[in-house]
Amino acid sequence: MPPNTLSTPLSNGSVHHEDNQITSIKSEIKSQKRWNEFETDIKWGNATFIFVLHSMCLYSLITFPYRQQFFLLLWALITAHMATFAITAGVHRLWTHRSYKAKLPLRILLATLYYSAGMNRIYHWVRDHRIHHKYTDTEADPHNSNRGFWFSHVGWLMMKKKNIVKQRGEGIDMTDILQDPVVQFFDRNYAKLNTLLTFIVPVFIPIFFFNQDVKWTIMSQIFIRYTYILNVTWSVNSFAHIYGYRSYDKSIRSTENVWVSLAASGEGWHNYHHVFPWDYQAAELKSFIFNTTKFWIDFFAKIGWAYDLKYVTAQHVQKVVETKGDGTHFIHGKSKL
Ligand SMILES: [Zn+2]
Ligand SMILES: [Zn+2]
Repeated sequence: MPPNTLSTPLSNGSVHHEDNQITSIKSEIKSQKRWNEFETDIKWGNATFIFVLHSMCLYSLITFPYRQQFFLLLWALITAHMATFAITAGVHRLWTHRSYKAKLPLRILLATLYYSAGMNRIYHWVRDHRIHHKYTDTEADPHNSNRGFWFSHVGWLMMKKKNIVKQRGEGIDMTDILQDPVVQFFDRNYAKLNTLLTFIVPVFIPIFFFNQDVKWTIMSQIFIRYTYILNVTWSVNSFAHIYGYRSYDKSIRSTENVWVSLAASGEGWHNYHHVFPWDYQAAELKSFIFNTTKFWIDFFAKIGWAYDLKYVTAQHVQKVVETKGDGTHFIHGKSKL
């Protein structure tokens, strides 16, 4: 019979010492959370909605007749890109960071397209993102990536916020958002406009103007497009805070992630963005494919709808790269690799 090590005196004969060990093991077991215990309560409504949406998306992706319904696929890509552009150029670079200014027509366009992404009110998006930048990857960060990939990707939307997140959120200055009549109009009519622009208009157009199949239109727009937009946006908080280079500041968790950049219209250059959040380009790379949002902001600047574009000089970037970067910068970091 194997010895019961927990009841056998240790080699030095100290039973008292063993008791202490048992007590510490018991308290450790007590402090370890079971798989179904979470730091805050689950938002069951959100969790169910996200689960059903992703299940339907998976079913749609498997059964979708891609060749026969090529028009709907194209329409899903175009509408997804327009919504993504409004998230990156609108709620992110314009309303959260004020990295450029936008005239009324552009603000209306951005708010309209943003509301086709089926997300929170603009006010809440901006507030959460400002907290994220102020308290990045700490307990006060709504999607603190130190709590793991899934929490920063989607888990934070399925759980109640910690008190510290709420308290810090109350300290964020939101005056500019409250004074923007476009934001106020859209946020006041959130339920109506969100339903109309996310679930009705993108479905209505192909069915009534292009005679498309109702079932496949709903599947491609509601389940595939919508789920795609959500995951692309969430990827900036998860993938781009965990995987990739830290060319501009190796002491922070956000990274340079080419895949997130390609999917999120140039928003994956996230190490750069956390170091220079006021830069409207949110990256050094300026090509259309790697920074689509910059291309469109430049386009709107050309027609006079965007102005006062803020950016960082190349000399300043180089200085920061050489002092804080991890040596992976595509120009200034080569010598360190
Ligand atoms: Zn971030
Ligand atoms: Zn940001």
